[in-house]
Amino acid sequence: MKVVRRIAELHAGAGIVGLVPTMGGLHAGHQALIAAARAECDTVVVSVFVNAAQFDDDSDLAAYPRDEARDVELAAAVGADVVFAPSAAEMYPPGYQTWVEVEELSRGLEGEHRPGHFRGVATVCLKLFNIVRPQFAYFGQKDAQQVAVIRRLVGDLNLDLTVRSITTVRDPDGLALSSRNVRLSAEERALALALPRALATRDADAARVLLAGLDVDYVELADFDPPVLAAAVRVGSTRLIDNVILEEER
Ligand code: AMP
Repeated sequence: MKVVRRIAELHAGAGIVGLVPTMGGLHAGHQALIAAARAECDTVVVSVFVNAAQFDDDSDLAAYPRDEARDVELAAAVGADVVFAPSAAEMYPPGYQTWVEVEELSRGLEGEHRPGHFRGVATVCLKLFNIVRPQFAYFGQKDAQQVAVIRRLVGDLNLDLTVRSITTVRDPDGLALSSRNVRLSAEERALALALPRALATRDADAARVLLAGLDVDYVELADFDPPVLAAAVRVGSTRLIDNVILEEER
């Protein structure tokens, strides 16, 4: 497996190319995306780039876990061919000034609580699609609004690639894996379990009751494809999001 830092050194992958965009801090959720790519692509590229443009909170960006050696190991373990880990200057050189906005879908939920977040996400994903030229790109259903935004971006801009959405990977206690979970103390982690428990009711009102003790940003039904019950909470200084798919097997 190769680690590539420069766009110019990222040569066209052989055959069908799959891209798994990540911000590092890899865990079994990211590995599920990489494994899905491995199963249907000839060349699997995992990008590891902490995209400052999608952070609205400087302390969240500063505290974001960064361990490239571990990321490289975990990506290699599930069969990635290339880890693309560019610097910020490689992605946003001096003078950079072009941004993509998926307007309506970026407004509610995460967009409302993290202004500019999806503009940063859409822009970096479009850049990564142009740099890596994948036929398939893999995203986690855990970030359901992100999947909706990226699907819209791909459709609206006629990008020649297929977006795959992969089921959320959870710890045995139900907590969705997240790079930010490493910041939770044991007590915070216990409190955070209210999030998957609340969502498991698949009922917004019941979920709100179960989340009453926490600092809740939102609990809302979202009419994505498929529809989800989505929530975001703050536990200590850590913000967690999760969702469950509704009415799938109707
Ligand atoms: P991130 O590095 O957090 O930006 O996530 C990179 C990709 O991994 C995104 O498409 C996420 O939706 C996905 N992802 C994050 N956590 C999980 C999880 N627990 N299960 C499945 N996919 C995930």
